[in-house]
Amino acid sequence: MESISVFDMLKIGVGPSSSHTLGPWRAALRWIEELKEKKQFEEVAEISVDLYGSLSLTGKGHATDIAVMLGLSGFDPVTFPIENIEKEIDFITSENKLKLNGELEIPFIPKQNIIFNRKFLEFHPNGMTFRATLKNGSKKSSSYYSIGGGFTVKEERKRKKIKLAKFAQFPFPIEKGTELLAYCKAEGKSISEIVLENEKSLRSEAEINDGLKKIWHVMLDSMYVGAHTEGILPGGLNVTRRAFEMNKNLIGDHKYTNAEEWIAAIRNTEVKFRQILKWVSCFALAVNEVNASLGRVVTAPTNGSAGVIPAVMMYYMVIENHDANFEDVRKFLLTSGEIGSIFKKGSTISAAMGGCQAEIGVSSSMAAGALCELMGGTPEQCLMASEIAMEHHLGMTCDPIAGLVQIPCIERNAMGAIKAINACEMALDSDPSKAKVPLDKVIATMWETAKDMTSKYKETSEGGLAVQVNISDC
Ligand code: SF4
Repeated sequence: MESISVFDMLKIGVGPSSSHTLGPWRAALRWIEELKEKKQFEEVAEISVDLYGSLSLTGKGHATDIAVMLGLSGFDPVTFPIENIEKEIDFITSENKLKLNGELEIPFIPKQNIIFNRKFLEFHPNGMTFRATLKNGSKKSSSYYSIGGGFTVKEERKRKKIKLAKFAQFPFPIEKGTELLAYCKAEGKSISEIVLENEKSLRSEAEINDGLKKIWHVMLDSMYVGAHTEGILPGGLNVTRRAFEMNKNLIGDHKYTNAEEWIAAIRNTEVKFRQILKWVSCFALAVNEVNASLGRVVTAPTNGSAGVIPAVMMYYMVIENHDANFEDVRKFLLTSGEIGSIFKKGSTISAAMGGCQAEIGVSSSMAAGALCELMGGTPEQCLMASEIAMEHHLGMTCDPIAGLVQIPCIERNAMGAIKAINACEMALDSDPSKAKVPLDKVIATMWETAKDMTSKYKETSEGGLAVQVNISDC
């Protein structure tokens, strides 16, 4: 059984994709660590990287090659200034050399040394192999897999060992929704309180608060930046950023100079049903426009679906509860993180394994349950809200046009956020003891659906919108 922290589910990173950008970036960093541990780092003369399966098929659009080069250069995806991406990549491509971990200059021609290989490796559709030729001529290689949400593994056996080690530390080990509910009942605690106890076994409460504040800060910043940036998104699809215009129309004459004042200004606008829909959509679009332009977002549980959770939290702050504070943010993030981890354990959060139900479906489900707790729902109602949200995303395919995380991805976040709010409202008005479909059953259904789905709809851009719409039409 796997034990996953909220900080594994919600990670600060760089767009556009957790599995195709953040994962390969982290894998490159892990490979450097491995070379250092084996005392081979100083001996490296040449390197190359093979990207397999989905990483190859949609890797260009998802900036996998850029992420690998930044990882090999030793940059941290959490702190690297995103405005420097272009400069760093330009240096590598124009000089045909790379500074491995910022220390060791080696020849590197991206077009030759990053190989897009359509073949799928057996363990997971997102495989990559890093290869090094050492100065004495010997060859070394390591394969990693990006299994969704920025998680990377080297091989199943090792991963299991780590899981077991981590699992042992949690006072409330949770694999299924039923177990979570049993703990809530036995302890008389809410979901977020149970999750907090688990987190406290890994780090101090001050560290937890600090980490969650950082996550919320990035979420809010990505909404603010996206809602105040106009123009066309990169990649060649010529997609116009829409959050800017929506915010401008909705905010009217209200003045503000930063994100906190923006929240206050939105609270002062008049909102009816249409404006609520538009605000929630604006928040979600904003995050995913930032994501699509290689900006900084929180992977929640993936980058393609990074807008749903911030948009629903922001909805609570500016529409439902004008007194909402960090305590509410904390509850929301803890609860949503736990629901995401139950999905990861029982099914998948990788679009390459399960299509878009694994990204937008899971993020909507996470947000629905977390919102339900803030709205005063019982733990049973929270999981009912999560179930409803996923039930109506089952079977959703992943078919990004031109392999870019733009169409249908950006709008899908708005739809996922709206569904989450509706699922929450329905659960709040329901008796969960009468629910016919418990959360665990919908997770099992999602997994079976994922297995039945053809690979055309699993982040390969070989089916659906990706083949109906040509980049030349855009
Ligand atoms: S279609 Fe969905 S799963 Fe696929 S890249 Fe877009 S957001 Fe991610």
